[in-house]
Amino acid sequence: MTQISVIGHKNPDTDCTLSAIIMADYLNKKWYLATPYIQGSLNKETLFLLEKYNIPEPVIVTQLDTNIDVCLVDHNEASQSIDNLTNVRVSHIVDHHKINFESNTPLFMRLEPLCSTASVLYKMYIEAGYEISQDIATMMLACIMSDSLLWKSSTTTEEDKVIAAKLQKITAISNLSDFAMPMFEAKSDLWDVSAEEIITSDYKIFEAWDSNIGCGTVETTSPDNILARKEEILVWMKNIKENQKLDFIMLSIVDIIQEINTTLVLDGKDSEIIETVFDSSVINNEANLWARLSRKKQIIPQLTEYFNAR
Ligand code: MN
Ligand code: MN
Repeated sequence: MTQISVIGHKNPDTDCTLSAIIMADYLNKKWYLATPYIQGSLNKETLFLLEKYNIPEPVIVTQLDTNIDVCLVDHNEASQSIDNLTNVRVSHIVDHHKINFESNTPLFMRLEPLCSTASVLYKMYIEAGYEISQDIATMMLACIMSDSLLWKSSTTTEEDKVIAAKLQKITAISNLSDFAMPMFEAKSDLWDVSAEEIITSDYKIFEAWDSNIGCGTVETTSPDNILARKEEILVWMKNIKENQKLDFIMLSIVDIIQEINTTLVLDGKDSEIIETVFDSSVINNEANLWARLSRKKQIIPQLTEYFNAR
């Protein structure tokens, strides 16, 4: 049997972690010997789910064995992937983000604009005729709730809702809000988390033409607790921007109850960019980006367009 490593993006979230576990299960059902991996420590939402449902935590790696095939889940961009990506053979990608991937060899690629990678995986199980166990169904539902923010994110599709209803039947989870709210509350418990980790816990670097954009998101039920630490967070944003040689950095505090995105931004050029791109004024390093809850759909395309046009 062919060995394969399944890995999610840097700064792992619930979708990339559980999707790595689910995809490893799927590949094991095919003709592979698959192992799921993560690229760093988990956020509190994912840890809450692993503990609640007794799911073993995948091993953390920053590089993968170059003799073993690799499957990327929930990402495809090199800037978000393992450090030795160019030296491994990527044989599979399952994702729901924009594409920025090059390969010299044929590979399996499955990308659909659904709300989560797990939604795509659900369809792959059905198409292959594989039974979805209660454990796998619970994990899929958790990914869908985490990425769609209980359907509040604009990435939600009608198909995701149909899939969730099917998964609810398998799991006997009758109320999605009762299932999702404890996950969101677990993720919002950040009192013992450093300002640096608040920025980098759900953080991605994007390449646009010759610019590197750092974009962090904090999805929380209690935004005031984060905004109270603004000065400390701004100092760390400046540090991270310098250390990672970024051209721009932003941190969106997303209130998932009120559905409001308050974005923190540094003085000067970065503030001007936010004002231009999102037609919003920056006051005391804060910009109201209204109901922009989705980074992949409502933040990154707009920023990329701006940087590519320069
Ligand atoms: Mn993700
Ligand atoms: Mn995802």
